[in-house]
Amino acid sequence: METYDVCCPICGAKNHDLYLEETDGWMECDHCHQVVQILAHANMQSISVYTCRELAESLAQTAK
Ligand SMILES: [Zn+2]
Repeated sequence: METYDVCCPICGAKNHDLYLEETDGWMECDHCHQVVQILAHANMQSISVYTCRELAESLAQTAK
């Protein structure tokens, strides 16, 4: 699988060897630790992407 070097859109730090195809363009910046999506590598199909925390919150709401 191909890896990519991209600059973080938040802080501008360069992140190396990212598997953007596997993550649908998402990456966590090594420098500022923000999770961002690199739109050039995003899949055009509409899919739901959850962080672990969002998933837990949504499961907690359905349980009520
Ligand atoms: Zn950053």
